[in-house]
Amino acid sequence: MLARARQILRRMRQTAPMCGAARRTDGEPCRNFPLENGRCKFHGGLVPKGKNWHRVQPAHNPKRTLAKLHEIEARQAKQRKRFARMTPEEREAHQAWQASHNPNPRKRWERRVALEARELLRLADEKARAKDLDE
Ligand SMILES: [Zn+2]
Repeated sequence: MLARARQILRRMRQTAPMCGAARRTDGEPCRNFPLENGRCKFHGGLVPKGKNWHRVQPAHNPKRTLAKLHEIEARQAKQRKRFARMTPEEREAHQAWQASHNPNPRKRWERRVALEARELLRLADEKARAKDLDE
């Protein structure tokens, strides 16, 4: 009975979609079943989509959820203290920076790639101009 169940599970694993993230142990694709967003629970499958990706998710263990919330509270208290120590100019600069920066890592990555692309284009342009001057 158990052997039959294992056989069925093995067949399901062979045909079902899989997580596919690179495993830390050997770099091979992860073979766990994916959740809604295509990754297993170990590889970001529990991270919610859209605007809620950075919100605290209730952990399986309520003690852990509490610990998380306490940690966040402590961090926010530290930030408030730091903010209170700032001069008005520093505070203004801080707020301007916060308003101009998106904490989404995907967006950060896109900005970095765009910056690198601009830099490459600039270098190519400089090379082309240097060549024009030579001729
Ligand atoms: Zn996985």
